[in-house]
Amino acid sequence: ITVTDLVDESYKRISEVEDKVQAFMTLDEERARSYAKQLDEAVGTRDELGLLFGIPIGVKDNIVTKDLRTTCSSKILENFMPIYDATVVQKLQQAESVTIGKLNMDEFAMGSSTENSGFKPTRNPWNLETVPGGSSGGSAASVAAGEVPFSLGSDTGGSIRQPAAYCGVVGLKPTYGRVSRFGLVAFASSLDQIGPITRTVEDNAYLLQAIAGGDQMDTTSANVDVPDYVSSLTGDIKGLKIAVPKEYLGEGVSEEAKNSVLEALKVLEAQGATWEEVSLPHSKYALATYYLLASSEASSNLSRFDGIRYGYRTDNAENLIDLYKQTRAEGFGNEVKRRIMLGTFALSSGYYDAYYKKAQKVRTLIKKDFEDVFEKYDVIVGPTTPTPAFKIGEKTDDPLTMYANDILTIPVNLAGVPGISVPCGFSNGLPLGLQIIGKHFDESTIYRVAHVFE
Ligand code: GLN
Repeated sequence: ITVTDLVDESYKRISEVEDKVQAFMTLDEERARSYAKQLDEAVGTRDELGLLFGIPIGVKDNIVTKDLRTTCSSKILENFMPIYDATVVQKLQQAESVTIGKLNMDEFAMGSSTENSGFKPTRNPWNLETVPGGSSGGSAASVAAGEVPFSLGSDTGGSIRQPAAYCGVVGLKPTYGRVSRFGLVAFASSLDQIGPITRTVEDNAYLLQAIAGGDQMDTTSANVDVPDYVSSLTGDIKGLKIAVPKEYLGEGVSEEAKNSVLEALKVLEAQGATWEEVSLPHSKYALATYYLLASSEASSNLSRFDGIRYGYRTDNAENLIDLYKQTRAEGFGNEVKRRIMLGTFALSSGYYDAYYKKAQKVRTLIKKDFEDVFEKYDVIVGPTTPTPAFKIGEKTDDPLTMYANDILTIPVNLAGVPGISVPCGFSNGLPLGLQIIGKHFDESTIYRVAHVFE
């Protein structure tokens, strides 16, 4: 098989299903094909091939790609052409994967269904009437639909794991700092991480291998050794200690989701692991804490979109202030505006102590809950989401029930620890996800456990 065959296969599948799934924002076909040719010519002329040699990959559209349109699925960046590549994109080039195109998402990664895209909703390949999850809905749906075998997403509060669960694929949010954020358009900088979405755990380990590592261009990335993830897939989990938070099997979590986790625990027990119930007592504050902090950071991060430096600029401005106002009013969608208003309010003097500062303190308590559990246990296991994918349109009028979707993924971002979602049964013909959460920088153990299910 040649790289050209693989790339052909990818674009062929895209031409067959894309009008239904709508996972891609932009395709990069010409460049991908000529690069494939170049790679095919390289075979046999050198000893070493890149780690992801010839693998077609899709990239979420909030990761900047040189000379390839990057929109964040926002009208305000509709024609934005970056002049540099994100560090992860450079690393993909070193690994010699082939970028097929850019993937649809909730505008600026704010959402849980990809319905907040400024251009089009992506649909769940398992049932086109349901959402693929979000915000990395295009990344998960494209892999589930067989358009690309690998994709990159980003996860601020669940945006890799939740769509992976809804689409029946494998998605990992790495430890905060494991992967460089240089070139990831910032939503909430203290929570954002780029991570791999694939069909199998083994593929996932390869993709993380390619993108992980400290980076001088991102001071929040960590200079921690990157282990060989693939070799951690030993299948041996004898003696492993698993914690199951009672808050993750409690109120609001569907019977099917609960049962699928209990079934998975039986499989792990049969392999020599043990599990016990624990508590993450501050989980109930995670949602409120997250939406305060993430909106605050977003309000600051998004101030750069002013109609002067990037993308869209209004035609109807009367003066400079009016130009800022009109550009932002016309360019941003409703959810983004909602977050900017919330965040600006929480950060304003007089309210800062009551909201932002308090949320920071609660975040520390949530992080400590995880540290306490990880003193005695190797991993934490639970459902990725309380229910499977919901219908398109079902939650668009009610932001609060949309936010509640992330109740089981958000604490992981607040604590900065890594978490994966792997397929784990079905409910009404729709996939469910099992979430496995690990210690800081211990993605290897997560993969080792996840691999048991392959
Ligand atoms: N759904 C969450 C939100 O809307 C998480 C999004 C994300 O992880 N990017 O903020």
